Amino acid sequence: MAYRVAVLAGDGIGPEIVGVTVDILRAVGKRFNFEIDYEEALVGGIAYDATGTPLPESTLEVCKRSDAVLLGAVGGPKWDNIQPPTLRPEVGALLPLRKELSLFANLRPAILFPALAGVSSLRADLVADGLNILVVRELTGGIYFGQPKGRDADNSRAVDTCIYTRDEILRIARVGFESARKRKKILCSVDKANVLETSRLWREVVTELAPEYPDVALTHMLVDNCAMQLVRDPRQFDVIVTENMFGDILSDEAAMLTGSLGMLASASLGSATTTAGGTFGLYEPVHGSAPDIAGKGIANPLATILSAALLLRNSLLLEDAAAALELAVATTLSAGSRTADISEPGKISLGTADMAAAVLNHLG
Ligand code: NAD
Repeated sequence: MAYRVAVLAGDGIGPEIVGVTVDILRAVGKRFNFEIDYEEALVGGIAYDATGTPLPESTLEVCKRSDAVLLGAVGGPKWDNIQPPTLRPEVGALLPLRKELSLFANLRPAILFPALAGVSSLRADLVADGLNILVVRELTGGIYFGQPKGRDADNSRAVDTCIYTRDEILRIARVGFESARKRKKILCSVDKANVLETSRLWREVVTELAPEYPDVALTHMLVDNCAMQLVRDPRQFDVIVTENMFGDILSDEAAMLTGSLGMLASASLGSATTTAGGTFGLYEPVHGSAPDIAGKGIANPLATILSAALLLRNSLLLEDAAAALELAVATTLSAGSRTADISEPGKISLGTADMAAAVLNHLG
């Protein structure tokens, strides 16, 4: 039986990085003996040009009948001034995609491959052995969505509301524990329980769930301390689970410890189960459509390739294939291959296609 993956290349460098990634997935399939049917669909500016909306209903249908979605990036100067702004690709495609697909958990691994220690923003002795932190962020609740939200008519006052229900906390905490279980079994739950009532409920619920995961060591940390510890000694972390706004900020901070936007993968998971018994999810690089380098064939494809590895692991439960792909990326970097964004003196600078070919080569 073939798995189904929706391929939404999008705008800018999207088609370049997604194209080589699908080629690599096909090769991984041959090597590990599985089959994927890839169904392409329009999203973003290119979809707006073709259909008048950045997220056509037909694209949503393709996503809903798939086991997973592989997304490139959307947006670019051509579509920045579309009216109404709700039709802009970032607003009109990404947010409704998350909502329609019920994606409540955002997983952002911040991996610094030892070969790239030189491009990290941290001192070499802190990151010489590399870093591997997973930030699990709640994606659909908290202060970004709580009501009431708005301003007084005279602009004298503005309000945002932070709300979390017990169930919302429980389901994301579970993703945190399950993720930790597949790694070093260390989970740090981050909140602001010394000040916020939502954080006190958060801490309570996470603590109540802990006995179900006796193999996972749980700690709690205040968000301000966590922001500090991430730059002081990031090696203490394995998995961090936290609410929407804290996760937004901490995942960017953790990501930057790894040096380059072109290396960062992400997964957004829902609760639906796939035909493989995994979790339905949307996988995409953290970076945008990079219009400044689009069409030049120099974009770093590794964030998208690493996102594909997350897809294999989480949605298709193909752990061996995922690990082999991640190892191929690590070996490619150790062998000295670099794209322009992570280039260092003395290393071989490759374009998108050659970098992907190097990964394929190391896949064996
Ligand atoms: P960006 O991430 O596209 O680019 C920032 C810088 O990083 C640029 O100099 C770019 O060339 C470089 N860069 C990004 N990805 C790279 C890669 N794979 N290889 C090499 N270099 C890379 O962010 P931006 O310039 O602020 O935004 C460009 C467009 O993308 C905007 O329209 C923005 O709204 C959109 N955007 C989309 C997403 C998404 O689709 N998820 C996310 C962020 C931004």
